[in-house]
Amino acid sequence: MVFYIVGAGIFGSVLAERVSNILKQKVVLIDKRDHIGGNCYTFADKETGINCHRYGAHIFHTSNKRVYDYISGFIQLNQYRHFVMTKSNNNIYSMPIGLRTINEFFNLNLTPSECKKFLEKKINDDYIENPNNLEEQAISLIGHELYNAFIKGYTKKQWQRDPKELPASIIKRLPFRTNYCSDYFNDFYQGIPVGGYTPFFEKLLNNDLINIRLNTEYNDIKKEITDNDFIIYTGAIDEFFNYCYGKLEWRTLKFEWSVENTQDFQGCAVMNEADEYIPYTRTHEFKHFHPECNDLIKLNKTIICREYSAEYKQGDVPYYPVNDKKNNELYIKYQEKALNTPNLILGGRLGTYKYMDMDKTILQALVCFDEICNKYF
Ligand code: UDP
Repeated sequence: MVFYIVGAGIFGSVLAERVSNILKQKVVLIDKRDHIGGNCYTFADKETGINCHRYGAHIFHTSNKRVYDYISGFIQLNQYRHFVMTKSNNNIYSMPIGLRTINEFFNLNLTPSECKKFLEKKINDDYIENPNNLEEQAISLIGHELYNAFIKGYTKKQWQRDPKELPASIIKRLPFRTNYCSDYFNDFYQGIPVGGYTPFFEKLLNNDLINIRLNTEYNDIKKEITDNDFIIYTGAIDEFFNYCYGKLEWRTLKFEWSVENTQDFQGCAVMNEADEYIPYTRTHEFKHFHPECNDLIKLNKTIICREYSAEYKQGDVPYYPVNDKKNNELYIKYQEKALNTPNLILGGRLGTYKYMDMDKTILQALVCFDEICNKYF
């Protein structure tokens, strides 16, 4: 029996680790790219030594102790806490929206309890009975002025859809606060692996039972797989089934990189652009993700990367599932087909068409491993 795992991102690599280390079974792990780590892949820039995230910034955060304990067996998180600034109408504010942003935006000096009342009035003025899309959900949390300034333009750029056509769940990812906490995430455990994400994957996959084959497509190995083997597929589910019910929609990202001859370009790791007329959604400055690398922080060079969101076309990297009604219904058809395919397990953001963070993907893989053990071993 061999576990054929397609995709060396989080889901595939965690399962490869569990299957090889715990079940002592053989794994063939393939990836069509020339590296492991999927979209979490990081590398040290040759010129500056700064650790960069090739596929957009990934910040690890979780409140799940099982997930935290699992990753701690392989890596140590640094002390980075994610806070984000956002530009709106030529002013710079703290994101997510909290007391500092509200006071600055409305030119007020509210206390937390005054701010709660102030927002309640705004929300009542814009009262929406059952918010059932992103726009209604956002307005019913913060009122239309803050929505227009910080959410509407960014969301339109990010999704190229009217926020009324997007699910409310997307905006529930962001906290809204009435205090001065500027953390982007509420999670208990946060940070970036010391040395970046690639060493984490190298440690996960450090077992002779794992045969890693890079630059390899699923179609290249299909013929090797027998009825006794498992297929763990973490690519796009519609692609696996040759788009037999039609294509799922995805968003892709494009990146524009540059090295700037300055010590600190923007003063934080991520600067969002809330205005619709700015074509990119955010700028990453990677040295800020590693406050433990003091020599690089002081270096008079810095690497920045502008992120543009675009509609996915064949050949692009799929990043975000578009979880609207039409696509979710199509996904369910593929999911049913997958359930009726023996020895096939689909996982990860692409395989399950879910907008999942890294910790949720790790948990999904650990739970999947439990199910494999209970069912087959
Ligand atoms: N969002 C926004 N303005 C911001 C940041 C986020 O409107 O400055 C909205 C946008 O719709 C986005 C969603 O909140 O898709 C979730 O943001 P998050 O930062 O979780 O997105 P990710 O980091 O996964 O791209």
